[in-house]
Amino acid sequence: MSPERVVVTGGAGFLGSHVCEALLAEGAEVVCVDDFRTGSRENVPDGVGVVAADVSRPLDLLGPVDLVLHLACPASPADYLRMPLDTLRAGGFGTYHALELARRKGARVVVASTSEVYGDPEEHPQRESYWGHVNPIGPRSVYDEAKRFGEAMTVAFRAEHGVDAGIVRIFNTYGPRMRANDGRMIPTFLRQALAGEPLTVHGDGLQTRSLCYVDDLVRGLLAMARSDHPGPINLGNPAEVTVLDVARKTIEVTGSSSVVRHVESMTDDPRRRRPDITLAQEVLHWRPTVPLEEGLRSFAREFAG
Ligand code: NAD
Repeated sequence: MSPERVVVTGGAGFLGSHVCEALLAEGAEVVCVDDFRTGSRENVPDGVGVVAADVSRPLDLLGPVDLVLHLACPASPADYLRMPLDTLRAGGFGTYHALELARRKGARVVVASTSEVYGDPEEHPQRESYWGHVNPIGPRSVYDEAKRFGEAMTVAFRAEHGVDAGIVRIFNTYGPRMRANDGRMIPTFLRQALAGEPLTVHGDGLQTRSLCYVDDLVRGLLAMARSDHPGPINLGNPAEVTVLDVARKTIEVTGSSSVVRHVESMTDDPRRRRPDITLAQEVLHWRPTVPLEEGLRSFAREFAG
């Protein structure tokens, strides 16, 4: 039997590159489709085929495809605020073309959505049944609404074309290959701690986050790929920590002498975020296992080296 052939859009990015690596290890043939706007060729593991293309345009690939994992989209606030229209295009047209590729090839497709579809949640922790509390015209809306639209598109492809499509809602994930300057909290804290600079905490720092180590997340994503569940399914670590705690732990694991500096709050910054992962546990038999300190240590080692 020929190996499974998997297309990973966004395979040159942080999550996508780890997904490619895990698929290669399973013996799959992997094709990464990426235009490198926030990822890089160096991230793509050896042995992965690379198609340099913008997913907002029709995707035309020769040969069979068994599985499509659609991850291509600017994901860090610094990136999507810099390219608001491209973010809407990636979530809208990009998701359409990924689903259309799966339809033509008769493949299973998993679309990466986000906890941001819950906005600034009024329900805690967030279950998949919660519809969210999103500001449709706020600065972050280009990302949140693109992902909500992508979910609607995925549901419509299932209903109208019978495509075996599933949605995962990914909560904050961190680990090696996040860019030092991508604006997300953990790489920013690590960069500041290792440079001996103050760690900048927005607002009082009592807002909470739930942080999942990348290896755990990839395991969950591949479990979803191997199932036929439509989702949406939350994937994230339910251990809730305050931003201030993350800053302190980062200082601790890096042995830094940095201090914490409070700066202005960010617009529409959610106060609380925590996934309810009951569904992932029941359907995918998945739960994260890497504690924050351990994940931070691994990431810090890669970051410093
Ligand atoms: P990333 O920016 O590191 O990776 C995104 C990749 O997609 C990059 O390689 C980029 O070049 C590529 N890309 C973007 N737009 C493209 C386009 N139009 N055509 C082709 N390639 C394009 O981000 P990430 O953190 O790895 O996120 C991957 C996916 O997971 C995204 O869809 C994101 O919304 C989702 N997600 C991530 C997190 C997280 O914590 N990392 C949380 C929730 C959801």
